[in-house]
Amino acid sequence: MIDISIDMLSLGNADSITVWLKDENNNSFVILIDGGNKSQGADVIKHLDKHILPATGKTAPDLIICTHHDKDHIGGLIAVVEHYKNLIPEIWVNNPAEHISSYRYQALKESFKKKSAEKQYEVIMESLQNVDDFITLVDKYNITRKPALYGQNKFNGIVKILGPSDAFYKSLLPGMDNVEEYVSQEAKYAYNSLFPNQNPDLLLEGVSPCPIVDAENSTSATNNSSVILQITARENKRFLFTGDAGVQAFEDVETHDSLDNLFWMQVPHHGSRRNLSSKLIDKMSPKWALISAKGGKENKHPRLALVNCLKKHGAKVYSTHKGGSKWHHIGNFPPRDGYSTAAEI
Ligand SMILES: [Zn+2]
Repeated sequence: MIDISIDMLSLGNADSITVWLKDENNNSFVILIDGGNKSQGADVIKHLDKHILPATGKTAPDLIICTHHDKDHIGGLIAVVEHYKNLIPEIWVNNPAEHISSYRYQALKESFKKKSAEKQYEVIMESLQNVDDFITLVDKYNITRKPALYGQNKFNGIVKILGPSDAFYKSLLPGMDNVEEYVSQEAKYAYNSLFPNQNPDLLLEGVSPCPIVDAENSTSATNNSSVILQITARENKRFLFTGDAGVQAFEDVETHDSLDNLFWMQVPHHGSRRNLSSKLIDKMSPKWALISAKGGKENKHPRLALVNCLKKHGAKVYSTHKGGSKWHHIGNFPPRDGYSTAAEI
C-alpha cells in the first residue's frame, strides 16, 4: 500500500512537481518532476528543503525526471543539480542531441540561431542551451542518467513511464532533409504561445466547451516528446503526470487502457485546449484534474473551454493561478502551517 503526497508548485506557465511516496514499511521515495524556469530553481530547492527532505530524512530527491527540454520545465533543474550534486542518485531525461547525428543537431541549432532576433526563435535557442547545460552538469557529477522513455520504472513499477516510446521520440526529431521545416513549425507554436491572438467567447466556452476543445488538437513536436508518467498509489489509484504532452503523444501510449479512469491527472501544457480532445477526456475521466498556469485575462492558459469540458466529464479542476501551489496527499503525512483546502476553479 503506497501513500502519496504531491505538490504542484505555483510558478506561472511552468512546471515543477514533487511526489513523496511511502510504502507500508514507512520507506520514503521522493521524486522531482521538472524544475520550472531557470530563475525558479531556487523556489524548487526551498520547497524541497522545507517541506519534503527533512521529513523524510533524505539529503536529495531519489529521482529527478525531466519531462522535456522546454525551458519552463528543464531550466530550474540546472540549479537543483548544482545544489544537490552527486547526492542525487538518478535522473531520467531525454537528450535530443543523442537521438540524431551531431551534424543534424548542429544544423538545427544553427537554423534557430540565424533567426534568434525574433523572440520565438530566441526562446527555443534558450531551451536547447538549457538542455546542453543540464546534461553537462549531470555528467559532471557522475549522476546515473537514463533515457526518459517507455519501460523505465522504479519502486517496483509503482512509478513508470508510459510514453514516449523510443521510436515515437525519434519520429519527433527532424530527418536529414526537413530541418528547416521542423524549425519553422517549432517557431510557429512558440509564437502562438508568446503572442496569443484570441478573443474567446466566454459564454460559449461555458455552455458548449467540448467542441471548442476539439476544434484544434495539435502541439509542437517538443511538447509531444513529453514524458507521460504513471504512479499507482493505495487502492490502485492511478496518477498521471503529463508535462506538455499532446493528443499524438497519448496515442503513442502502448498500454492505452492505462489512460482509462484516472484518479488524478496533471492537465497537460498548462491547460491549453489543444493538448487534449473530448474523446481523451472521456477516456481518462479524472476525478481530480490539476493545472499549472499563470491565468489572467491576457493569458491563454488555462483555457476556459478545457476547464469546463473537464468539469462536464465529472472532474474537480484546480489551477495554481488560483490560490497558489497545490498539495494533494493520501495517507499519513505531517501537517504543514499555512496550508488550507484548495478551492476549485
Ligand atoms: Zn510548459
